[in-house]
Amino acid sequence: MSFPRTLGELRHSPFSEQRLSTRHVKDEIRENLAAKLRDGGPIFPGIVGYDDTVIPQIINALLSRHNFILLGLRGQAKSRILRALTGLLDPQMPYLAGCEIHDDPYAPICRRCRDEIAKHGDSSPIAYLTPAERYVEKLATPDVTIADLIGDIDPIKAARGGHELSSEMTVHYGLLPRANRGIFAINELPDLAGKIQVGLFNIMQEGDVQIKGYPIRLPLDVALVFSANPEDYTARGKIITPLKDRIGSEIRTHYPASIEEGLAITEQEAWTQRNGSKLRIPKYVQEVIERIAFAAREDKKIDKRSGVSQRLPISCMENVISNAERRAIRADEKVVVPRIGDIYAAMPAITGKLELEYEGEMKGADNVGRELIRSAIAKTFDEYFTGVNLNQVVQWLIWAEKFKCPTTPERRKLCNRCSRYRA
Ligand SMILES: [Zn+2]
Repeated sequence: MSFPRTLGELRHSPFSEQRLSTRHVKDEIRENLAAKLRDGGPIFPGIVGYDDTVIPQIINALLSRHNFILLGLRGQAKSRILRALTGLLDPQMPYLAGCEIHDDPYAPICRRCRDEIAKHGDSSPIAYLTPAERYVEKLATPDVTIADLIGDIDPIKAARGGHELSSEMTVHYGLLPRANRGIFAINELPDLAGKIQVGLFNIMQEGDVQIKGYPIRLPLDVALVFSANPEDYTARGKIITPLKDRIGSEIRTHYPASIEEGLAITEQEAWTQRNGSKLRIPKYVQEVIERIAFAAREDKKIDKRSGVSQRLPISCMENVISNAERRAIRADEKVVVPRIGDIYAAMPAITGKLELEYEGEMKGADNVGRELIRSAIAKTFDEYFTGVNLNQVVQWLIWAEKFKCPTTPERRKLCNRCSRYRA
């Protein structure tokens, strides 16, 4: 399929002036979302465990055309959800070719494009953006400036073009105008300096951007989405009230509610398919790994406010597999099979992901990690063997320990290795 290449061709295509003028980015998301809902397919493929909690709230926020914020601890798929919003954008979006802020060909807001159209009219060239190109993401840090986010006067641009410094043509656009007609995501919103938050508020309120005191009106069309740690977001003074007030929906994310959901996420995310080696991970090993995270989230020695990321079981699983892989390579085994003992080899994937409280610090990360593994193993064991008579196993272990014999007491007469103990 070929797309119109000039403004004139565009007028007579499905991307008509009528359609583009009524299809702001939030309308576009809304319509595409509604179509997906009607089809009944998954809205956010690959997001596990949020079907009855987070996802319906996000859908409502999008249908309401809200800017929204996801509040949640580390490793709760917040960034991934925000990135997945691109799945709700049109596959192609026309803009005036060469425009830094992806102007609507029928209603350009930047000076360059207005001049361009005045000069070339219907032969002005049109280009297209894919959904991924319409997603701009910024991790907020205290050193983010207005210039980064909104823009700055570029003296070099002024000198080259022979413009006055006060001319619109000398503006170097920041990230937000560059997200025009797309989605702009800011992670860890409370880390933005107050002054920048005011800038953002102006955009949301008036669609107005002020650059270095030059009141350049840029009525941007942007869907703003944010993420934050709930503690920071609710802390007094971390976020300016009018900005908070402008965020339509506040949605809380959470860790997987059940071991099964955790398992599904870890299985999806961990790197397990390794060049050819056959891998068999026993279910109970998966369960132990998942329970380490669950145990850590409840442990008093670990800081609740910073949380225990779902990346813990994911990295842990990768290390467990690697330890088994290392053994398999050395022993020239064809199948890699992790065992319980391999989980202790994954300590480096665990300790670094725990923020310890005072009591934990006193005990040391290694001890805390080992305790978590131990309790995860015990819980998993109980799931399988509660009420099972394990006498025989215990007897075998006592026998084996006593005589260093690998066979059972009942079969000792048949034992070739320690025949001297035959009864
Ligand atoms: Zn433009």
